[in-house]
Amino acid sequence: MSLLAHSAEDPSPAARTGAPDSRSQLFNDSTTEHYRRSVAEGVARIADKISATRRPFTGVTVDGLSPTVAGIDLEQPLHDPAAALDELEEVYLRDAVYFHHPRYLAHLNCPVVIPALVGEAVLSAVNSSLDTWDQSAGGTLIERRLIDWTARRIGLGERADGIFTSGGTQSNLQAMLLARDEACRTALARENDPDAGIPGERPQGATTPVRRTDILPRLRIFASQVGHFSIEKAATLLGLGAEAVIAVPCGPDKRMRADALAAELALCEAEGLIPMAVVATAGTTDFGSIDPLPEVADLCARYGAWMHVDAAYGCGLLVSRRRALLDGIERADSVTVDYHKSFFQPVSSSAVLVRDHATLRHVTYHADYLNPARMAERRIPNQVDKSIQTTRRFDALKLWLTLRTMGADGIGELFDEVIDRAADAWKILNDDPRFDVVVEPQLSTLVFRYLPYPDDRDPVLSDEVNLHAREALFASGDAIVAGTVVDGRHYLKFTLLNPETTLADIATVLDLIAEHAGAYLAARPEPALSAAS
Ligand SMILES: *Cc1c(COP(=O)(O)O)cnc(C)c1O
Repeated sequence: MSLLAHSAEDPSPAARTGAPDSRSQLFNDSTTEHYRRSVAEGVARIADKISATRRPFTGVTVDGLSPTVAGIDLEQPLHDPAAALDELEEVYLRDAVYFHHPRYLAHLNCPVVIPALVGEAVLSAVNSSLDTWDQSAGGTLIERRLIDWTARRIGLGERADGIFTSGGTQSNLQAMLLARDEACRTALARENDPDAGIPGERPQGATTPVRRTDILPRLRIFASQVGHFSIEKAATLLGLGAEAVIAVPCGPDKRMRADALAAELALCEAEGLIPMAVVATAGTTDFGSIDPLPEVADLCARYGAWMHVDAAYGCGLLVSRRRALLDGIERADSVTVDYHKSFFQPVSSSAVLVRDHATLRHVTYHADYLNPARMAERRIPNQVDKSIQTTRRFDALKLWLTLRTMGADGIGELFDEVIDRAADAWKILNDDPRFDVVVEPQLSTLVFRYLPYPDDRDPVLSDEVNLHAREALFASGDAIVAGTVVDGRHYLKFTLLNPETTLADIATVLDLIAEHAGAYLAARPEPALSAAS
């Protein structure tokens, strides 16, 4: 569009007629002032909101908020951006859950860094789609640089590649897809090789070749018992069934036991099944525990299994002074990283990296209208060739501006700070007779529970008390903590990802938990609770 056609003197159709005009809402060279004002107004509202937020949450209930949202008549537009923002205050901003708040301690949601927010504004305004070069140009090159950068930090070697994804769930799915198709390829080649002489795998005198459908039911994936549920979901989506995922026991430190993995792999082989992949978790969601990566790598090499490292949470270690905790990750066939967890990036920002770029061919499909094979021959980089998505956000821009503004060390310092804080908080919890804490953290989570009795003689009551304390705290909005189940018992969880969370905040939240627990115990009719005090 030529600048002459729409100069500043050439008012938009809306300005010409004075009537609300949909075309004036299109972002283009004639509406940049409207864009500037609208976005500035939205930004101003958020800035005011964040300045005035005293609690992570208002404690609103589903029943309390639903009528407000349901009451909006979507057939009756407001035709007024300020009014729409006023309404947004009611339906969303007033009662949102604020991850930046130092007493938000629940899930793996980080406060976000400002350069990434600038990136978010830029990427959605330009709205590149990273499926093809002809929809993104420099966006594709930036994403590829960041993939290379991450792969180098991991140490995946010269043949590495990867792709940005919507999150760890998608990264894990893609990794399992590649592992499945590599396992099928190898198994088919081996079992259809008349000279391979593998006993017992084909019926005597079989003449029909082994097919892919014969292989799929025999594939097995190994992940620790505290691995992420997205692995089971991936196994289901990939036609293997959740039963294909074998849960490998952990030690008391919640890390996968290498001896247990060795035993499971041996059993798998003895049963004529195929060890498709081992998923080592580098930072489990509940405990932040890191599986023994070098031992897992050795076993994968021995059994010919694909080694996937789910570092959705632990990836921040790549830029931290604790990088050594990830030793062995460089031997992985694929790695999941969630920049939106420990790189302080807004949702979404994630990637899957692979050791050998050739394995990405399992997601390569060509469409005449989009990415015909001749483009690949001409080395035109079409990222859709490596992705399970087609239209795809330029999330990489957020990380790019973050690295260019703060640098990797800046991110690493923030992550190190929360890990330091978790170590200190563990000491507080461990010394506090009101609480039982499960495991000393490697990263930044703490799993603990309030004890009505110091010897926990009534664990069912402890379950009730902790479930109640968590809900009551949430309803108060004073702080948000998570919950989980350990060995069948209900526990509470802090996930620390905010360097602004102080030890004093943590102590305050522990006191609040104890208060809510105490109030619950005091309100119980039976039995008398004198022993609890
Ligand atoms: C959060 C998490 C995932 C899933 O990532 P999403 O970005 O939420 O899809 C996978 N694995 C682990 C270990 C996680 O902590």
